[in-house]
Amino acid sequence: MRVLLVGGGGREHALALGLAGDPAVETLVAAPGNPGIAAVAQLREVTPTDPAAVAALAVEVAADLVVIGPEAPLVAGVADAVRAKGIAVFGPSAEAARLEGSKTFAKDVMTAAGVPTARAYTCEDAAAVARALDEFGAPYVVKDDGLAAGKGVVVTDDRAVAERHAAECGRVVIEEYLSGPEVSLFVVTDGEAAVPLLPAQDFKRVGDGDTGPNTGGMGAYTPLPWAPPNLVDDVMRDVVHPTLAELRRRGTPFAGLLYVGLAITPSGPRVIEFNARFGDPETQVVLALLETPLGGLLHAAATGTLGAHPPLRWRDGAAVTVVVAADGYPAGPRTGDVITGADRAGIIHAGTRRDADGTLRSAGGRVLCGTATGPDLAAARDAAYALVRDVDLAGSHHRTDIAAAAVDGRITIPG
Ligand code: AMP
Repeated sequence: MRVLLVGGGGREHALALGLAGDPAVETLVAAPGNPGIAAVAQLREVTPTDPAAVAALAVEVAADLVVIGPEAPLVAGVADAVRAKGIAVFGPSAEAARLEGSKTFAKDVMTAAGVPTARAYTCEDAAAVARALDEFGAPYVVKDDGLAAGKGVVVTDDRAVAERHAAECGRVVIEEYLSGPEVSLFVVTDGEAAVPLLPAQDFKRVGDGDTGPNTGGMGAYTPLPWAPPNLVDDVMRDVVHPTLAELRRRGTPFAGLLYVGLAITPSGPRVIEFNARFGDPETQVVLALLETPLGGLLHAAATGTLGAHPPLRWRDGAAVTVVVAADGYPAGPRTGDVITGADRAGIIHAGTRRDADGTLRSAGGRVLCGTATGPDLAAARDAAYALVRDVDLAGSHHRTDIAAAAVDGRITIPG
């Protein structure tokens, strides 16, 4: 199988490692890729959000499967353009990707499908914003309606901060605050059949103890020792299948990766958000434990044959990833700094570039992450931090408490 992988972040590096490790994948091309991906794939230049350009590249490299990593190409219709060339693609149509591209659309689908989620209003002016904030009270949850790379959400007790964010965004979704630990559940689907991966937890806030602003994600671990035993079955029954059925009913079936972000509240799991692609950095840990060949799984989802795919096999133990972020991230990351200690197994590249002389430099906010497995969560955590300690990048920062509460048994479901 010849595979074209679209994207160039940490998620795509993890996907590239999974695809390259599948014996059925003979050739792996990544566009644009990154210096980490370059070790396992041929790199090609492309603008990932240009549907015609990606489709043309898929034809040129004679791809049997195109895997689209990030959300922006999906929302731009890249999957549709590739499918129109008769090439199998892992990633939903632009219509179905609105599940991520518009918070209002997602809420509408959830309401129609009876999916448990926070009550919410879409607001377009200050009066509507004030009414919604009054109704729900603090803590206030204000979300930019459009794509914001995971950074369009403000959760705050400060009314003025909530109002300012709403004014800056224009159209926002304001919703009820959900309390309880968060879970990311990835579901591979061909629109009808759906296969859950291991649930993971990520760390959205920049600082230890969940302090500071939201980021794209500062670390992750899997599995979740504290999760209720029926969690995945319940979410498949109450969230995933009803949502997929509603999208089929609308004539826009969702095929690809359905990311379900949940809060485990006292009244059960509630959807915080849907995404239309693998999450970053949870992908790094989930795929580290997946033993089933990745290319075959994604190809089955892309060709409507997932129902005939054998059950997934998982490695024992746990996986942890710790993100190393650039100085100034998330507000204003500094780029161009030299990185050493990063060319080793377990380092996943996210925002890096390589000079002609081989020097590795930072090129984004989340620069790289140390990903490790171990017989248990504590061992995987220690191994991931050992990787991160060996990386040198001026001004960089990382959280020191990734997976700590789970290791120490401090995560409880309120109620
Ligand atoms: P989102 O981009 O929708 O995932 O939101 C980013 C983060 O904001 C989530 O991971 C949560 O930590 C937080 N968040 C979003 N919606 C809510 C909510 N309704 N209640 C509590 N926290 C929320």
